[in-house]
Amino acid sequence: MKLKHAAVLLATAFLAACGGGMPEGEVRFIGFAPVTSKDKDVRGVQTFCPNCKEAMTIDQEGDKGVKNRCENKKCKTKVAWANDYKCPSCQGSGRCAACTAMEQNGDCYNCRGQGVLIYAGQSPNCPNCKGSKQCPICKGKKNCDYCEGSGKIPKETVKAKAAKFMNREAELPPPDEPKKEEPKKEEPKKEEPKKEGGSEEKK
Ligand SMILES: [Zn+2]
Ligand SMILES: [Zn+2]
Ligand SMILES: [Zn+2]
Ligand SMILES: [Zn+2]
Repeated sequence: MKLKHAAVLLATAFLAACGGGMPEGEVRFIGFAPVTSKDKDVRGVQTFCPNCKEAMTIDQEGDKGVKNRCENKKCKTKVAWANDYKCPSCQGSGRCAACTAMEQNGDCYNCRGQGVLIYAGQSPNCPNCKGSKQCPICKGKKNCDYCEGSGKIPKETVKAKAAKFMNREAELPPPDEPKKEEPKKEEPKKEEPKKEGGSEEKK
């Protein structure tokens, strides 16, 4: 009994230490899961400082190791990130979003798993599954394609996906290379000695 109590206390203490009063970073999943082969996959992830709402990188690696402090100089909030996030495509169920949306069960809704469409005496390949008879998103496995059926997106994956968005934001100035060059170039105009001396002509 007492032991249990201690364990609970410990757990609370641990949680408190972890949280440290830090606000949790904001992760926004954008775009919808594709449900047919025609849909483009436009899903992306963006990560933000919870305080000033500026884009922020998860576990940014700097010269002093990983840091999670907002880069906005007026903000500088220390931010915590969860270890994983509920998959936005399957709402954490791990189930193929296309199968859910189209009420198909791993087999193609369009041809009802036949692989072909039959009409007017013809049977062209189904344009959705291209004749595979299966859901083009999960290939018949019924697993969510975004989280691979786990229902969760790990922090590392979120970071990697968000990196694309970050780079797009910072497209104008290239992310690395602080741009230093041209300490030459000053040659041509070199010293035109002031004409005062006058007598210093070339011989
Ligand atoms: Zn901030
Ligand atoms: Zn999922
Ligand atoms: Zn599916
Ligand atoms: Zn089909």
